[in-house]
Formats: sequence, structure tokens, C-alpha cells
Amino acid sequence: MLKKIIGDVKVKILVINAGSSSLKYQLIDMQNEKVLAKGLCERIGFDGAVKHKTFDGRSFSEEREIKDHKIAFEIVAKLLVDEKYGVIKNLKEIAAVGHRIVQGAEIFKESCLVTDKVLEQIDSLSPLAPLHNHAQAKAIKAAIETFGKEVKQVVVFDTSFHQTIEEKAFLYGLPYEAYEKYKIRKYGFHGTSHRYVSAKVCEMLNKDINSVKIVSCHLGNGSSICAIENGKSVETTMGLTPLDGLLMGTRCGNIDPSCLVFLMQQSEIDIKKMDEIMNKRSGLLGISGVSSDYRDVKKAADSGNKRAKLALLMLSYQIRKKIAACVAAMDGIDILTFEGGIGENSYDLTISVCEHLNFLGAKIDVEKTKQTVGGKGGIISTKDSKIDICVVPTNEELLIAKDTLSLIG
Ligand code: ADP
Repeated sequence: MLKKIIGDVKVKILVINAGSSSLKYQLIDMQNEKVLAKGLCERIGFDGAVKHKTFDGRSFSEEREIKDHKIAFEIVAKLLVDEKYGVIKNLKEIAAVGHRIVQGAEIFKESCLVTDKVLEQIDSLSPLAPLHNHAQAKAIKAAIETFGKEVKQVVVFDTSFHQTIEEKAFLYGLPYEAYEKYKIRKYGFHGTSHRYVSAKVCEMLNKDINSVKIVSCHLGNGSSICAIENGKSVETTMGLTPLDGLLMGTRCGNIDPSCLVFLMQQSEIDIKKMDEIMNKRSGLLGISGVSSDYRDVKKAADSGNKRAKLALLMLSYQIRKKIAACVAAMDGIDILTFEGGIGENSYDLTISVCEHLNFLGAKIDVEKTKQTVGGKGGIISTKDSKIDICVVPTNEELLIAKDTLSLIG
């Protein structure tokens, strides 16, 4: 479909994922959806490092000071047209830049073109996403300065997909003023991944997205599960911030809020420290004491480390509980998906989750599941399973590029 629209016109989209001290990029040729080059500028504002790779295996890396996002964009622009490491002749070949933005709150219900007002609004949401929105607004400004005003900029929000969640599901049981005054509510994240995967799995299974109930499990360093009914998000595990829901690499996921008060009262922990504990020292790392990386924890568990085993048991248990909650939210399920670094590769976890979903009539083919790793994906349910179960390699960058292309017309 997209190919028909594009025809023979060469359209290259630069996709940007900026953090407070990093800038990830991919240049995608939308004619064949091929990634021409991708890379990362990290430790921006500190000592700095650049990594760049092309589709045909050329790679460049350098440790160098990167003062700010503007300098990072200049480095990226130079590399893209570089004689040795470049993939295009002229920056004019870039039709538009698509930016991933973490928090769009209730303002941004879908992706849109960047205007001065949009930039202001993104920045104004910084209190809700202190580590991301301000840096991302700065990155957009830097992109405009680097590529010129004639190159359109598009923003795609992690939260937009979840704006269809109803009030009964997005409100917390706090005094209503907390929502009215401070907009405290569930926003949900990983929207681009859940949207991409739900469309992709329907393509794989030849089903109409408008008539199926999907539970999508995005499991990576950050993890969330989403209930998608007739193409719309109706429930998700992340909340006001990406800290809520499942136990993650270093994040605690949902806990009794009183744990905070109790811990802070019992020890000399201030708010900043508490925030750091919940976001950076909990999850797989906090329980296992080994690592935040699933592979390391698995290795330790396999060699007998009890706390590593416990961390994996907790993760598997929490995933199936949240899947069940999503099924209840939709009063049914047709399709279950697994995606993200863990969801696409750690078949042992997928197997352990699905083994306990007998009440849904879910049955997986263990051998097929083992074949899906490394970005292959595939259908892993057996023929007599009551629901379809699939591993679906996610591609948030491609979805950002597609939204960008459709918005620049
Ligand atoms: P992020 O949330 O940062 O995008 P990813 O989706 O890349 O994270 O997922 C990272 C997680 O995926 C890590 O815990 C890592 O151990 C796990 N992972 C990546 N590759 C594999 C693999 N081959 N086998 C098992 N786990 C993997």
C-alpha cells in the first residue's frame, strides 16, 4: 500500500530517539523500508561517544566530546554524507525527520507535524517526563537548525496510542482534584510498539484488527502489557510514568504506595534517593543482585543462584497475572503477542508464562517457540490452542517513519 503511494519517488526518513544525554538515529529508505544507517551519540554533555553503522557493514566509532544535542546532530549529518561512512550524497535527500516523544499527555492524541506551538506544548509537559520531554524538545530545535526549516519535523508519542483508554481505567483512586489540578492519571507508554505489533500480528494471522482482542506483551529493559480491543488500547500496565506495572530491568513496577512512605520513614532516604531506588536499583537487578539484563540473570539462575531464580519466577508470575488482567478488561482474548528484547529472544520465559495460561485454552509449541528468536518471530500456538500466540519482532522506528511519511503528505 505504502509502496503504491510512494511510487518511484525516493523518500528517506530520519528517525530520532533522543534522551537527556543520548541521541539514537536511523535513516530509513521508505521505498523498501530498509535501514540505510543507524547509530548513537551518547554521553552528550559529558565525555561523549559516537557509534555509526551502515546497511552494508561499514562502521565508525569515536570517543569525543559532544557538548549538546546540536553538536550531536551535526555529527550525525556529517556521517550520513561522509565519503567513507555515508549512505547519501546530500542531506537534501532526507525528506523529513520523525522524533519519538515520550509524553504527549492528553494534548497529543496522535502524531503531528512540529510547529512552534507543538514545541512549546511538548516542553510544557516536562514535569510529567522530566528525563525526556525537555531533552526531546531541545533535540527537535537542534534538528531544525541542522537540516533547515524546509525539512519537516514530525513527532510521534509513546502515550498517544493509549489515549483511547476510558476514564474508569485511567483514573487512580486519589481525590479527583489530583487529576483536575495536576493531570495525575494513567498515560501508558510503549504505544508505538503496541500499535506496530497489533497491526503486524493481524497481518501475520490474516485477521481484521477491528474485530479482535489482543494482549500485547512488550518485554525489554522497560516492559508493559497492553489490552487492544478492535485496534484500540483499552488498558495497559504502565501508568503516570513508565515505572508502574511489571517488574523490569531496574524498575520495581507496581508496589503498594505505602512502601515508599514506610521506607522513607524507617531509613534516612529522601525523595531523590527513593526515586533512584525505584527506577534504577529495583526490578531484576534489585531482586537478583546480579544484573538488570535478563541474559545475565538467567545465566546466574541456571548455575544455581537462588535470588536470580526468584527474580525470574517473579517476572513470569507477574506477566501472567497482568495478561489475565488485560483479558478481564476486554472480557476475552483472541491473540497474545510477545515482543521486545526479552519477548523476542527469551523463549524460556515465554514458555513458562504460557504453560500457566491453561484457563485461556492457550497451548504453545515449544519447538516452534525456540525457532522464533533473533528477530525471526512467528506463530507459536498449536493448532488446537483456543487463542493465537505469536512472537512479533517490534519495530518502533519503522512506525515513526511511516507516521512521518503520511504526515508530510
Ligand atoms: P529496551 O527496553 O532498552 O529497548 P530491549 O527491548 O533491547 O530493551 O531489551 C533488553 C532486554 O532483552 C535485556 O534484558 C536483554 O537481556 C534481553 N535480551 C536481548 N537479547 C536477548 C537474547 N538473545 N536472549 C535473551 N534475552 C535477550
